[in-house]
Amino acid sequence: MNLQDNVSVIKGVGEKKKKLLHNMNVDTIDDLLHIFPRKYEDRRNISYIMEAPFDTETLIKGKVTARQMGRNPYRRNNPLKIKIQDESAGLEVIFFNGRYLANYFSIGAEYTFYGKISLNNGKRQMIHPEFHRLGDKDDIRGILPVYPLTEGITQANMRKLQREAIAAADYTGEWLPDTIVARHNLCSPSYALKNIHFPIDERNIREARFRMIFEELLILETGLSYIKKGASERSGGVRIEEHISVDEFIASLPFELTDGQKKVWQEIQSDLASPKAMNRLVQGDVGSGKTVVAQLAMYKTVKSGYQAVMMAPTELLAKQHYNSMKKDFEPLGLKVDLLCSSLKSKEKQQVIQDLETGETDILVGTHAIIQPDVSFKNLGIVITDEQHRFGVQQRNILAEKGDHPNILVMTATPIPRTLAVILYGDLDISIIDTKPHGRLPIKTYLRYEASRKDIYDFVSEKIREGRQAYVVAPLIEDSDSINCHSAQWVYEWLKKKYPDINTGLVHGGMKQDEKDRVMEDFAAGKIDLLVATVVIEVGIDVANATVMVIENSERFGLAQLHQLRGRVGRGIHQSYCILLSGSEGKIAEERNKILCSSDDGFVIAEEDLKMRGPGEIFGTRQHGLPELNISDLVRHGEILEAAKKESESILNEDAMLESEKYKVLRTKIKKMFGENIRLNL
Ligand code: ADP
Ligand code: MG
Repeated sequence: MNLQDNVSVIKGVGEKKKKLLHNMNVDTIDDLLHIFPRKYEDRRNISYIMEAPFDTETLIKGKVTARQMGRNPYRRNNPLKIKIQDESAGLEVIFFNGRYLANYFSIGAEYTFYGKISLNNGKRQMIHPEFHRLGDKDDIRGILPVYPLTEGITQANMRKLQREAIAAADYTGEWLPDTIVARHNLCSPSYALKNIHFPIDERNIREARFRMIFEELLILETGLSYIKKGASERSGGVRIEEHISVDEFIASLPFELTDGQKKVWQEIQSDLASPKAMNRLVQGDVGSGKTVVAQLAMYKTVKSGYQAVMMAPTELLAKQHYNSMKKDFEPLGLKVDLLCSSLKSKEKQQVIQDLETGETDILVGTHAIIQPDVSFKNLGIVITDEQHRFGVQQRNILAEKGDHPNILVMTATPIPRTLAVILYGDLDISIIDTKPHGRLPIKTYLRYEASRKDIYDFVSEKIREGRQAYVVAPLIEDSDSINCHSAQWVYEWLKKKYPDINTGLVHGGMKQDEKDRVMEDFAAGKIDLLVATVVIEVGIDVANATVMVIENSERFGLAQLHQLRGRVGRGIHQSYCILLSGSEGKIAEERNKILCSSDDGFVIAEEDLKMRGPGEIFGTRQHGLPELNISDLVRHGEILEAAKKESESILNEDAMLESEKYKVLRTKIKKMFGENIRLNL
């Protein structure tokens, strides 16, 4: 079968399986073969029970000597317990809810079990192992792949599909230039595919994975370099005269700039004065005051006769920026406008028209502003807020609406400098490393379910004092499979227990205008207590809110907890963050200690990295990059660098990727970046 054939050519894949696979983004045989194992099970050798290590997956075999079904009528999941014995020792196998298996195991017969052995009161135990009758057709001796799955497809289904695809696929030959293959000692594509799924030994896995990681990173880097090249062809650049003063704007601010803000503003000013277009990333922790720095740049640009635009990832944030810019800039004679998709088409028409004629000085908006029908008279600066929420290409599309405008991108996600250089390459980096003066550090506490009432009594006391509060929960609605409180549940519970408090609810399942209404009411003080999902994570700024309660805090990553906590502590009152953990334990304590001991996003990100490994925190989504399948930008940093070098020489040789030689690479880039890339093909 051809790699581009639909998966339905595999025997046993009907309409239903096809749909399920589609949910995993699998349509073709090639897609299927690119679902790589998460890990492997080593079932090559059977261990003696006596010698098998504890708490690691192991394969054992044994003869069943006893079998007992629990009979407690008051227990829902009566366990099935089986005693087995090999030449070395005995062990008990337990299946909770095991009634359906009671007749599978016969006394005296031999079975293999794959699972972890633990010790319970001095007795060896295996809970819920995988099992086979010794020697039956599925009792495999070998290395077995373990795949990521979707509901409705079992591990056995997936292994079978992969086996069939591997056996019948027409593999494409080598598509990378020989020089690259030789330089990096890559195995062939067909060897890589076969061995990543069904390896014989560890060496096969290593070689196959290396090829796949290299491939993926090469495709990523070539795509990124291609996009960047497009960006750097726009040199030239808008130049802003140095003598233009921003003093009136600074004087109109109700506060003094912090040292960090001043330093970054200096860096931006020298970029603006240079004939080369500015390309700068401003990193600053939540609450460090990035917006005002962006406003300075906008103000100076507008005073030089240009227009300025700021793009934000959510409508909520765009509206908030719009409102504060209107307040700050209109008294100084600037016209500020808002463009987002919820505007009525007539309003939209007006906004677009004023923009074209140059009547509007500053435009704030969402993705709506990169649409083709939006054009500027004289665009001088492009700012993207919370850059990590945007695709790499979107910033460029926006920039193309002007003649080499200056570019400023802002993010609160701390990225180690080495990684930033690879990801953003052409960007200069500024860091706001201070917090506004006079802020009291946020007090952070870890509490458990038993303190629920005390916590909310405390919240209601603060509300009585005139403050506002947030409660964040991990889910929108209760779920059978996930055991934690949902925003809906917390909201109803609070309404019942604290009827006097004005409580609101906002979550991602609500319509945009409903969400906006609730958020606006909260900002206006009409709602005192806002129950939310993480939709409030980005950018919200309500200085009167001083308490943040995080329900089931164990379900959030450290960096995310830090972002959420950053929603309070923005005013003059003492603020509090209460982590209400659903599970007690070392990890909860550990994470709490880190959060309590630091309010520095960089430090917390470092700690997060240590605790969780790089894979999760540097997820590519956070940086607006395409989803990666097998590689990890941090763990595979060296391969990334090698791939970057190769990608540069590829583009030097063939800037448009037009030659036959790079045809496959070109298709693969298109596939990885999807809508996010316009290869002129
Ligand atoms: P972020 O970096 O998270 O985007 P913002 O720009 O929203 O932070 O700023 C957070 C809050 O701090 C805003 O209410 C802003 O008005 C205020 N702020 C910014 N700079 C200063 C400063 N130098 N002194 C006091 N308050 C400031
Ligand atoms: Mg912000």
